[in-house]
Amino acid sequence: MTKRPNNQNMKEIDWSNLSFGYMKTDYNVRCYYRNGAWGEIEVCSEETIPIHMAATCLHYGQEAFEGLKAYRCPDGKVRVFRSDENAARLQSTCRGILMPELSTEKFNEMVDKVVRLNERFIPPYESGATLYIRPLLIGTSAQVGVHPAQEYLFLIFVTPVGPYFKGGFATNPYVIIREYDRSAPLGTGIYKVGGNYAASLRANKMAHDLGYSCEFYLDAKEKKYMDECGAANFFGIKNNTYVTPKSTSILPSITNKSLMQLAMDLGMKVERRQIPEEELATFEEAGACGTAAVISPIERIDDLDTKQSFIISKNGEPGPICRKLYEKLRNIQYGIEPDEHGWTRVVIE
Ligand SMILES: *Cc1c(COP(=O)(O)O)cnc(C)c1O
Repeated sequence: MTKRPNNQNMKEIDWSNLSFGYMKTDYNVRCYYRNGAWGEIEVCSEETIPIHMAATCLHYGQEAFEGLKAYRCPDGKVRVFRSDENAARLQSTCRGILMPELSTEKFNEMVDKVVRLNERFIPPYESGATLYIRPLLIGTSAQVGVHPAQEYLFLIFVTPVGPYFKGGFATNPYVIIREYDRSAPLGTGIYKVGGNYAASLRANKMAHDLGYSCEFYLDAKEKKYMDECGAANFFGIKNNTYVTPKSTSILPSITNKSLMQLAMDLGMKVERRQIPEEELATFEEAGACGTAAVISPIERIDDLDTKQSFIISKNGEPGPICRKLYEKLRNIQYGIEPDEHGWTRVVIE
């Protein structure tokens, strides 16, 4: 492992102009499930996976993923944020689509290993870029009948990604699309599986073609309540209260969970409940939240079918509470403010 498999020259990486793309790094880590048990962790420099054409992940969507980041901090250390929560969510997804669960311990061990092995790809603090960590779990054994696979591959790769806000923290317009649903009330929306993304591609393209940042889904059954927005959860702020949807078809965002705690720490009330679409008119601020942006503040939400436009930000600027929550969470991720809830783990000292 002394030989670097990759000729990527450090000097050629323009950290602050990275997009949310893919760049080859030195190593990924893999672990195989065979004969009813997970094996040893393997270090790999191949970017491809040899796979049987009848693998269940290819035909029946036995596929789950996760997403988190490693942050190069001003104190020089490298931290990851709440990876225990990613491990727990992956375990929940595994129960949801009948895949074998991986322990939190093994998940964290593999996260730490892949980050350390690719240290030279962790962007410097000043660039605003981070190292994106992508765990993937797939059913690999051959089968034509619809049953869970006997064998699985869990792997984690990393790739440096640029800052979400290139021109600074700013608001964006969003659009409610009623024509498509990404998930059903008792479907797989609560699991992080690729199928939900396939189901969202058309609405997502439609939103982008119309000049919106992202599409919003209403609950699939009644088309009355706010669900979530593309690959991010939704929250609104009013009367010193953080309000976020309670729904059986949205993905439980770790960023949202963290923001709820920080809002309580700031003395705000937190409500998890159904949010009727018309209530959008009453919010002082609102945002989409997830690992990629932390918070993407919302300028307005248009409803394509009813032609209503809910203006959230009157002056087009992010509101003070969104800004405060955003800065607080980022400062914890970067080890700048005390981590009172024990959310970060130092991976490289
Ligand atoms: C991953 C994801 C999110 C955001 O979750 P975080 O843990 O905050 O990154 C929200 N919605 C969907 C559909 C997702 O897949």
